[in-house]
Amino acid sequence: MNHENSLTDTPLLYEQSVEGRQGVRLPNLDVDETPLPPNMTRETLRLPELDELTVVRHFTRLSEKNFSVDRQFYPLGSCTMKYNPKINEDAAGLAGFRRAHPLLDAGRNQGALGLLYKLQECLKAVTGFAAFSLQCAAGAQGELAGALMIRRYHRDRKDSGRTRMLVPDSAHGTNPATCTMAGFSAETVPSDSAGAVDLGALKAACAGEKRATLAGLMITNPGTLGLFEPHIEEIIRTVHDAGGLVYGDGANLNALMGIIKPADLGFDVMHVNLHKTFSTPHGGGGPGAGALGAGATLKDYLPGPVAVYDGASYDLAAPAASIGRLKPFNGNFSVLVRAYTYLRILGPEGVRRASEYAVLNANYLRHLVRDDFPSAFGADRRCMHEFVASPCLGNGVTAMDIAKRLIDYGFHPPTVYFPLIVKEAFMVEPTETESKETLEAFAAALKAIAAEARAEPELLKTAPHHTPVGRLDETAAARKPVLRA
Ligand SMILES: *Cc1c(COP(=O)(O)O)cnc(C)c1O
Repeated sequence: MNHENSLTDTPLLYEQSVEGRQGVRLPNLDVDETPLPPNMTRETLRLPELDELTVVRHFTRLSEKNFSVDRQFYPLGSCTMKYNPKINEDAAGLAGFRRAHPLLDAGRNQGALGLLYKLQECLKAVTGFAAFSLQCAAGAQGELAGALMIRRYHRDRKDSGRTRMLVPDSAHGTNPATCTMAGFSAETVPSDSAGAVDLGALKAACAGEKRATLAGLMITNPGTLGLFEPHIEEIIRTVHDAGGLVYGDGANLNALMGIIKPADLGFDVMHVNLHKTFSTPHGGGGPGAGALGAGATLKDYLPGPVAVYDGASYDLAAPAASIGRLKPFNGNFSVLVRAYTYLRILGPEGVRRASEYAVLNANYLRHLVRDDFPSAFGADRRCMHEFVASPCLGNGVTAMDIAKRLIDYGFHPPTVYFPLIVKEAFMVEPTETESKETLEAFAAALKAIAAEARAEPELLKTAPHHTPVGRLDETAAARKPVLRA
C-alpha cells in the first residue's frame, strides 16, 4: 500500500515558483504589439515561474493520484470500464481525422464520411437494425432521441393520446428521466421475485382502457441485475400488440455482442454506448457516443444527418422524417474513430469472444465471492456480464463501507446502491479484458475485507485510510467542493 500517496506531498504550483525561472521561450513577435489591460500583465498577475520539468512532474504526479483503467481494476457495474486499446488512440490521432474540418464539403471529406458510414454498417451488423445515426453524445441522449422518435411516430399516425411509457423499476435513472423529458409520463413496472419484469403487471399496463394511452416501453436487456430477461420476446410482443413501441437501452450490449441481435428480439429502437461496449475512454463526464439504431418502423425518424453512400461517394443526408439534430456536426467524431478501430480489429469473431469472456469473467468472479457476497437475484442462474450482490457482513457494515475499504486495497469500488430494488446493492462488472489473476486478486481482497468486517469493523467504517483524503460527505463534496487542500 502506498502510504505516501497524499495530496499534501504535492506542493501547489505557486509554492514551487522560483523568481526568474522560465519554462518556455516564445518566438519573436511578428505582429504589432498590443498592450494588455493593466490588471493582466506579468507584473500584476500572480503567475508561478517554473521550468518545464517541474511542470511535467507536477501534473504527472497529480495524474497518478487518480484511478484509471490503465492503472487499476475498475469493476464499476453498468459502466463497462474495459481496457481501451492504445491503437484506438493512434487512429483517432491520425492527422486526416484529427484535422478534418466538419464544414469541409463532402467531396474533400471522403475519408471521415466513409468512416462514419462504415461504422454505421458495422453497428447494423452487430445489432441487426436497419439504420444507425451517430449524432448522440451519450446513451442518455440516445434515449431522449429514441423517445422523441416514438412520440413523433404516434403523432404522425394521429394517435397522440399515447402518453404513457413503461419503465421497469430496476431501470437506470436516465430511463424515466428521458421519457419524461420527451413529454411522456414514465410508469413503473415492478420486478417479480426472480428479478425479471413482472409479466402480469406488464400485461395489465397494456390491456383494457390502458391500451389506447400506451406509447411504449423502455427496457434494458440484460437487465440492471445482470440477468437476461427470460420473457423478453413476450414482453415486446405484448407492447406491440397494444400499439406501443419498444426502446432498448443498449448499455448492456457487452453481454450479447455477436451472440444475439437485439433487432431480432423485436426492439424498435436502441442506443449503443460506444464509450462502454466499443472501448473508448469515458468517465468524469468526458465525450461519449450513444449511437442510435432503428428497425423498419422508426428508421426514417432517426436524428440526422447520417452518412450515406451511393456506390461511388459518401455524403451526409437527413433521414426522411428525421426528428432533427441533437448535436452540432456529426457527434463526437474522435470517439467514433476509436469505436470503428476497435470493431475492425476484433472482427465478428472477436466481438463475439469479447462478450463470451465478459460473461465468463462475471460468472467466475461471482462464484469466487458467493459466500460473503451472495447474488441478490438469480443466484441459481448464469449471470450475464455483471452481477449484483447484496453483502451482509454483519456488525453494521454497509456496501459503502466495503466499497471505501476496497480503495485501500488498490481497487476501484464497484457500483453501490444501484439498482435501487436491491438492498445494499454491490454491482460488479469485471469486463472481458481482465485476467484470471486479476479476478482472483480482487476476490481475495473481498474475502480479506469480509474477515475484517467480522473482526475489526471500524477499519471499514472509517475507510479509506491510504488516500489523499478520507471518507467524504458525498453530498457536501458535490455541492460545496473544496478543490484545493
Ligand atoms: C450508462 C448507462 C446509461 C446511460 O448512458 P450514458 O452514456 O452514461 O448517458 C443508461 N442505461 C444504463 C443501463 C447504463 O449503464
